[in-house]
Amino acid sequence: MQQRWRWALGAAVLAIAGLAGAAEPSFQITPVDDAWFKALPMDPQAATNAFMARIPPEVQARANAYFEGGYWLQLWNFLLGLAVAALLLFTPWSTRWRDALRQRLRRPFLADAAYGALYLLAGTVLTLPLSLYQGFVRERAYGLATQDFGAWFGEQLMQTGISLLLGGLAIGLLYAVLRASGARWWLWGAVAMTSVMAVTIAIGPVFIEPLFNTYKPMPEGLLKDQLLRMAQANGVPVDNVLVFDASRQSTRVSANVAGLMGTAAVRLNDNLLNRASPDEVVAVMAHEIGHYALNHIPKMLLEFGVLIAAGFLFCDAVMRALLARWGTRWRIQGMADVGGLPLLAAVFATWMFLATPLLNTIIRVHEVEADLWGLNLAREPLAEAEVLLKLVEYRKPDPGPIEEFIFFDHPSTRTRVFNAMQWRAQLGDGAEP
Ligand SMILES: [Zn+2]
Repeated sequence: MQQRWRWALGAAVLAIAGLAGAAEPSFQITPVDDAWFKALPMDPQAATNAFMARIPPEVQARANAYFEGGYWLQLWNFLLGLAVAALLLFTPWSTRWRDALRQRLRRPFLADAAYGALYLLAGTVLTLPLSLYQGFVRERAYGLATQDFGAWFGEQLMQTGISLLLGGLAIGLLYAVLRASGARWWLWGAVAMTSVMAVTIAIGPVFIEPLFNTYKPMPEGLLKDQLLRMAQANGVPVDNVLVFDASRQSTRVSANVAGLMGTAAVRLNDNLLNRASPDEVVAVMAHEIGHYALNHIPKMLLEFGVLIAAGFLFCDAVMRALLARWGTRWRIQGMADVGGLPLLAAVFATWMFLATPLLNTIIRVHEVEADLWGLNLAREPLAEAEVLLKLVEYRKPDPGPIEEFIFFDHPSTRTRVFNAMQWRAQLGDGAEP
């Protein structure tokens, strides 16, 4: 979730994460036998320490390096985005595109949308070296990617096409709102952008994600039966469980209950199915069903909507001041001129960058809720802790509290295992993994 948010306006509508993914996971959590589980202390802190001690030092060192490198990448992406905006503000190209498109496309919405797509394209091309490093080179270096360069690059092209289309339309819509609603644009603009996000979340599982992965019904069996019962008993309107070939891109373990209203679906990634025991799969899916049952998508849309509205207010104040000083030099004819998009994107990206801890905390709070809800449904704290250890592959397991507050959109492994062990101390073991 987090990476998408860093990237100014256009990225707000990119609801796909076709992350590049190399081979078998090259890390191993120390395996244990039944005797280990039987001897596990009931005390939550002691039990958590026992689980955490199973992460070999070299695995932890690598996870830390990977995850901490991500902090810097957030900064580099932000600064590079600012540099792209500055380049387009201080050179005549951007406003020439605007003027040419205005002449050719008489409808302001179309001209603004086309300009928006062109701006996103310029940003994509200019930041390609960093995207290549972050999405391909680095993922392969850490053994998380399974694609060769051609496959990765092909998916990048598809993603770029989708983001130009959806991002362009969103930008056209935002400037239509800016023209129509004057001083209140920040409010109606936030409503419009949140609506675009809601539509993207609703159509993503049906129209976008199948472009990148194959979704097949899970083979019949006891496990599928149990997952389906769990979903249906908790109001998820589904009649099937889908498995998708995430191993095409990555070794990451994950799952989701995605979509809104009619497009809801319970979806398992094949890495999870191949690398986790049935009890662990049940524990993970109970968490995902929790997101659905607790209405986390509509709630987060509302919370993001408030954050976007506040961000647009911030943009309004900062941009009016900057335009009064520099507007003529930048050839921008007021707030509603799409030629000001680089400035809007830069100021909004600054807002989102500063709001990173808040944004991560909004998501993290929901994740803690879904963890507890999932424990209540699956009643598998040991399987839950076991599968959490497998996420160490791509998330630093044991950060400090301030680091967790700022950078973690999911709680750390230690926090999540501790919550599961606290649940276990009160309500018991469930079945052993
Ligand atoms: Zn979750």
